[in-house]
Amino acid sequence: GQPVLSVRDLRVEFVTRRGILKAIDGVSFHIDRGEVLGVVGESGAGKSVTGSAVIGLIDPPGRIAGGEILLNGKRIDNLPPEEMRRIRGKRIGMIFQDPLTSLNPLYTVGEQLVETIRTHTSLSASGARKRAIDLLAEVGIPAPERRIDSYPHEFSGGMRQRVVIALALCAEPELIIADEPTTALDVSVQAQIIFLLKKLGREHGTAIMLVTHDMGVIAETADRVAVMYAGRVAEIGPVREVVQQPLHPYAQGLMGAIPSLHGDAQRLAQIPGSMPRLSAIPPGCSFNPRCPFAFDRCRTERPEAVSRGKHPVACHLYDPVPAAAEAHA
Ligand code: SF4
Ligand code: MG
Repeated sequence: GQPVLSVRDLRVEFVTRRGILKAIDGVSFHIDRGEVLGVVGESGAGKSVTGSAVIGLIDPPGRIAGGEILLNGKRIDNLPPEEMRRIRGKRIGMIFQDPLTSLNPLYTVGEQLVETIRTHTSLSASGARKRAIDLLAEVGIPAPERRIDSYPHEFSGGMRQRVVIALALCAEPELIIADEPTTALDVSVQAQIIFLLKKLGREHGTAIMLVTHDMGVIAETADRVAVMYAGRVAEIGPVREVVQQPLHPYAQGLMGAIPSLHGDAQRLAQIPGSMPRLSAIPPGCSFNPRCPFAFDRCRTERPEAVSRGKHPVACHLYDPVPAAAEAHA
């Protein structure tokens, strides 16, 4: 069937006094029903900006400069803000790093769940409360009939993120965007939240875009993974292939630095050098200053994604015929 989410050649720019910065420069991917797509890369790679574009929250001076975003086959990147607001929360759920950004400290979790459920369904107040209790039970909150009347601050960080997941599920969204959903949590509860998200996605048929800098989280959760670098997708494919046999030199660096869910997430920094600033993206392959395999072509010609028998990878090592030579052949 058609994917829940299709992103095609997405371009996002930020207009600054020093010129136009290309934050996302031609990103394409899709996510199917019940599938988890992990979007991974170092900070600044454009993971969160991609997520924000999907939910229509690129604020000026940012703007979508090209491409298409389709939700179940219908474009959503060109909708009026009012219509996009209805899609957020209803058809697209969101889970952010800090659960407190999604919860209002002044209301009990029950009040927030009931209000959200009633916004999106025709359930009565008592029906919505019953549904809220069921959802809290489903996300693993113990004694939900009692905890439903607690305030957000009365929950631990992990339990609070479970409440946020329940809140995201209220409207039975087609897509959930989870941006670093476990980064702020104790390492001991990160795995539980990740497995919960994956399980619920499967059971509800929800497509999940899981944005994280943590390869360990991706390896344990995602069905497919998109590795982003400097606003582009370097490599995208089934998690087993990309994690066990990464093709792109950057992905190889990342995978060589897989932290376990119970380990040290800072090990990504093992790749020497750092992501270029948007104002200083090098010509050719943006990874070339850090790449141990870089050759002449890498410094002048930007690699496009190719798949030679395997999943797509944007690296000249896998595309031996220069485009110029092809054109003149
Ligand atoms: Fe390295 Fe060149 Fe491939 Fe870029 S295109 S990753 S610089 S080999
Ligand atoms: Mg981010």
